[in-house]
Amino acid sequence: MALIVQKYGGTSVGSLTLIQSVAAQVARVRECGDKIAVVVSAMGDSTDRLVDLARELAPEPDAREMDALLATGEQVSAALLAMALRARGVAARSYTGAQLRVQTSEAHGKARIQAIETEHLRADLQSGCVPVVAGFQGVNARGDTTTIGRGGSDTTAVALAVALQADECQILTDVDGVFTTDPRMVRDARCLQRLSFEEMLELAGQGSRVLHLRAVEFAKKYNMPIRVLSAFHPSAGTLICAEEPTVEAPIVAGIAFNRDEAEFNCFGLPDLPGTAYRVLKPISDANIDVDMIVVSAARGGKTDLSFTVHRDDYVQTKRIAAGLMQAFPESNVVSNDRVAKLSVVGVGMRSHAGVAAQLFETMAREAINVRLVSTSEIKISVLVEEIHLERAVRALHAAYGLSG
Ligand code: ADP
Ligand code: ASP
Ligand code: MG
Repeated sequence: MALIVQKYGGTSVGSLTLIQSVAAQVARVRECGDKIAVVVSAMGDSTDRLVDLARELAPEPDAREMDALLATGEQVSAALLAMALRARGVAARSYTGAQLRVQTSEAHGKARIQAIETEHLRADLQSGCVPVVAGFQGVNARGDTTTIGRGGSDTTAVALAVALQADECQILTDVDGVFTTDPRMVRDARCLQRLSFEEMLELAGQGSRVLHLRAVEFAKKYNMPIRVLSAFHPSAGTLICAEEPTVEAPIVAGIAFNRDEAEFNCFGLPDLPGTAYRVLKPISDANIDVDMIVVSAARGGKTDLSFTVHRDDYVQTKRIAAGLMQAFPESNVVSNDRVAKLSVVGVGMRSHAGVAAQLFETMAREAINVRLVSTSEIKISVLVEEIHLERAVRALHAAYGLSG
């Protein structure tokens, strides 16, 4: 008998009919004799609609109240799924994050899960009752409801699977698994059977939204296998687990991309120790994450510094950067929020040269200018004008032989 945690995403619980078919699937798992706990996202795009409602009242709504509001989306689908299960004669009970005492850090909107009490869940599982948990939420030390970042129900599911020592965490979604790139952009993208934690970490970190980054971090840390599969029809899906040293990995596993980038180029800064710190410190003090950073070679005592931030932080960063440039009288800053980043990922890159050369060759052939580059051991990221993103991803997908 296995213990499985299943998570159903927004599209998969987008209507009452879909919730009923999720209930049927959950019932089937139980009929096979396995124990199951379920995590759900909010129905369809209901979280977006709650965000819109809040913004109609206030451009920057209070963070505590925002969490109180957004957490309701998952509570609706958890209660409805528990009802649908009970209507089928399957014992089920829904839980909010607070009821389960999913303890998180303070930070509203981006809280981190610290602990989950499993007492209720274990009692339910023991008695044959299916716990249905509202994803994406928890409670902080003050007893206030928190949320853990958009797309965070994946992380709730993995954290729950770890806490329960489940055999597998299954993420059921609107695609058949993890593809070589977003199948909505590249029609002949191929569904991967297997992927290492490290590769999935890079893909998720670089914008492939099929899995929440922290879900993969949790899974890797606790060695919890994740299977991504279709909520709508039977599929083997993609198994994400520790890398098997005996398996010859493909050089490039997949391509991720991210449109949420904004670029800043600071020209003519003094080539002195501490310059990068002086530019970047006020940005980090404003709680803005800086992604790519490139310092150019110095010339005549001057240097240039380029970096990217999330597009949501563009206006605030622009304000900070403008203030900063007053401290460097001979410098100027140019910014652009119509850029996008694409990243080529694969553990095979460690032992194979030529991946970068092929990338630049392809960009040259497509006449696409590469604005910034950053690399890790198993990834190369480049920043391009957003209008060229799709063409760049398609060309690279073909160039690396990833098509199905
Ligand atoms: P859910 O609501 O189930 O959490 P998401 O919309 O968060 O679903 O994630 C699934 C989506 O991720 C897919 O519809 C697909 O467009 C997108 N996606 C991006 N990159 C990939 C990839 N490499 N493989 C599969 N899906 C991807
Ligand atoms: N409902 C939340 C969101 O839309 C969390 C999730 O779906 O995982 O971001
Ligand atoms: Mg998701």
